[in-house]
Amino acid sequence: MINIGCHLSISKGFESIAKDCLKIGANTFQFFTRNPRGGKAKELDSEDIEKFFKIKKENNFRKIVAHAPYTMNLCSSKEDVVNFSVRMMSEDLKRMEYIPGNLYNFHPGSHTGQGISAGIEKIIKALNNIMWKDMSTTVLLETMAGKGSEIGGKFEEIKKIIDGIELQDKVGVCLDTCHIYDAGYDIVNHLDKVIGEFDKVIGLNRLKAIHLNDSKNILGSRKDRHEKIGEGTIGIEAIQNIVKRKEFCGLPFILETPQENLSGYKDEISLIKKFVE
Ligand code: FE
Ligand code: FE
Ligand code: ZN
Repeated sequence: MINIGCHLSISKGFESIAKDCLKIGANTFQFFTRNPRGGKAKELDSEDIEKFFKIKKENNFRKIVAHAPYTMNLCSSKEDVVNFSVRMMSEDLKRMEYIPGNLYNFHPGSHTGQGISAGIEKIIKALNNIMWKDMSTTVLLETMAGKGSEIGGKFEEIKKIIDGIELQDKVGVCLDTCHIYDAGYDIVNHLDKVIGEFDKVIGLNRLKAIHLNDSKNILGSRKDRHEKIGEGTIGIEAIQNIVKRKEFCGLPFILETPQENLSGYKDEISLIKKFVE
């Protein structure tokens, strides 16, 4: 039994997403909290959420993952961008309480020239402002490809951010297979070593979700272009090894592959389920 789903659009509401999950054999999913390019969040409809909970319960859905918009940058050199990002994330996390106990994933940020240490300090400061003691959501830092001035392309950077967070029990990591491969972690030839390094640097107890993607680019390319499962540089064999790892057992696996429609995801999900049978 593997917990698997994909990124789905929330535009038609939570009930509609839950129904999509049933169609494709998913028991988890990821959604953008608002338009990925930013903008206003959709109004929450309590009736829709109730219908969603019913389907979730009846079908034993696992934890779901909300993804912050890409425009969010808690460590920009521009103060207005930081303020705007803090506001968006605060709002998002308050809304997450309508679907309590789930995961909120975000890209740590890009330091835009200030340097990694300064960027990390800003992210820590912002998170300590935003998070509160009784929140039920776990905030996840996503491992990044290290493109441009992106923070989070090294496990050490993620670890430094985590160490600065006051509410230690509310922070975790989402590992993106495409991103870490592009960042230079060789999950194709040395998966054991990479998992060992993650454990040594961050700790496997912090790992709360996996973004399962193939990559269009080579190891260490720092590009971040996702590919369909088995059609990229990571390849089907390595993906199979990843989903079978006991260290990842029970975590939600989320596909963020460039599929045009639901049936593409359905095929990928059934392929991956066969790997763990
Ligand atoms: Fe992401
Ligand atoms: Fe991702
Ligand atoms: Zn990506």
